[in-house]
Amino acid sequence: MQGPVNCMLKLAELLCISGVTVTVLNTDHIYRTLLRHTDVLSRFSRYPNFRFQTISDGLPDDHPRSGERFLEVFEGMRTVMEPAFKEMMISGCFSSRSDSPVTVIIPDGSFSFAFDVARQIQIGLIYFETVSPCALWTYFCLPKLIAAGEVPFDGNELDVLIKNVPGMEPFLRRRDLPSFCRLNDVANPVAEIILKEAQYVPRAHGVILNTFHPLDASILVHMRTLCPDIYCIGPIHSLFKSRFTCESKLTTTNSKVSNSLWEENTSYLSWLDTQVTRSVVYVSIGSMATMTVNQLFEFWHGLVNSGKPFLWVQRPGSVIGDYDDDQVPKRLVDETRKRGFITTWVPQEAVLAHSAIGGFLTHSGWNSTLESIMEGVPMICWPQNVDQQVNSRFVSEVWNIGVDIKDTCDRVIVEKAVKDVIDVRRNEFTESIRMLAELGCQSVAKDGSSSMDFNRLIKSITLF
Ligand code: UDP
Repeated sequence: MQGPVNCMLKLAELLCISGVTVTVLNTDHIYRTLLRHTDVLSRFSRYPNFRFQTISDGLPDDHPRSGERFLEVFEGMRTVMEPAFKEMMISGCFSSRSDSPVTVIIPDGSFSFAFDVARQIQIGLIYFETVSPCALWTYFCLPKLIAAGEVPFDGNELDVLIKNVPGMEPFLRRRDLPSFCRLNDVANPVAEIILKEAQYVPRAHGVILNTFHPLDASILVHMRTLCPDIYCIGPIHSLFKSRFTCESKLTTTNSKVSNSLWEENTSYLSWLDTQVTRSVVYVSIGSMATMTVNQLFEFWHGLVNSGKPFLWVQRPGSVIGDYDDDQVPKRLVDETRKRGFITTWVPQEAVLAHSAIGGFLTHSGWNSTLESIMEGVPMICWPQNVDQQVNSRFVSEVWNIGVDIKDTCDRVIVEKAVKDVIDVRRNEFTESIRMLAELGCQSVAKDGSSSMDFNRLIKSITLF
């Protein structure tokens, strides 16, 4: 998943410029992929207090690590990565010098095995939960939801309101819970994994969240009853930009920072530069989400029928099933030539910051959501997994910054959603999203809440 990789590497770099000695432990697979597509090695080589180490994820090189075989990743983690990690930590192999032993582990929220190791060797552990706080809160509530019989549920009556997620009672429906709460979800074993992982989080020394106080205040109140020590340091991509502009002399490289797991294609730029301000819909479903050929065509028709220009990222492997170019209706081809641009992986932050972008058709991944908020781009949400269902509900019902078309994929609905975001409800959405963006900017500024929480985090790490 690109989202957690971005978050972790940005955190690592922020810690480095604050003087903390950092080792980033990545799987061999992710590390090799990063080396292929980015300059991470030379970028991080400027920090004498940084190094990369790798670990096997237990899967062969040619394993897809996604789609139908995604669950095998968890199996590899359990059987290969977990014992190897324990061995590495206990043998002290991360300590480059005897005077700088590891004092804190900062694992992603899905590596609870780090918790047992930290306890065994008596060092600190602070989770970095890279999913959204609103989804994390639903994970914390899962035992209650299960006990009350609200989860799991079948595919019927998805509009029934959920009673056992405090703070979300007025608006959270069954369909807005993470997809693994559905009985018919193929990835249902994920529920068990998440349930187990989530119960470790409150037992850690602290939790880092990629959000800013004003955005998630209503949820943070509840979350603090379980996890008193929360550091809200987000949006981390904005804190990163702000710190690098204010405090580091490395500003020249800042604009080119990339942690992409795919080659970034910038051929879209000359096309985008010719488009009218706030007129283009940017379409991307992130690094893991997929669509069927049928869904691809529904989106395509909807986009074309809306009459708005569109920039569409079609990540290799994101469409399940084959289709030939001659199956694409001629009208779609012709209209796309006139008003569209289809591309592979792009530098998304830069795309969203472009003045021609007026809306974002997204899978509602948490990073994409935050990036869109910070650039003031309203969203059309088509969520699939993990935290995405909850995020899209917050986008439409809590923050009023876009429309949520979850569980549908119909050209008429897509066309209407595009027109709503670009024209009909544009002012309404833009007003709310600009307000949030402003609060986000204030949070990452020098004395803002995210900046202060980051400073508090550094202090806590130092105290360990
Ligand atoms: N992204 C990108 N180029 C693309 C599509 C996505 O750089 O063409 C980045 C995007 O900026 C975001 C990340 O990939 O930081 C996706 O993270 P998110 O949490 O939204 O979803 P995930 O891919 O992890 O499901």
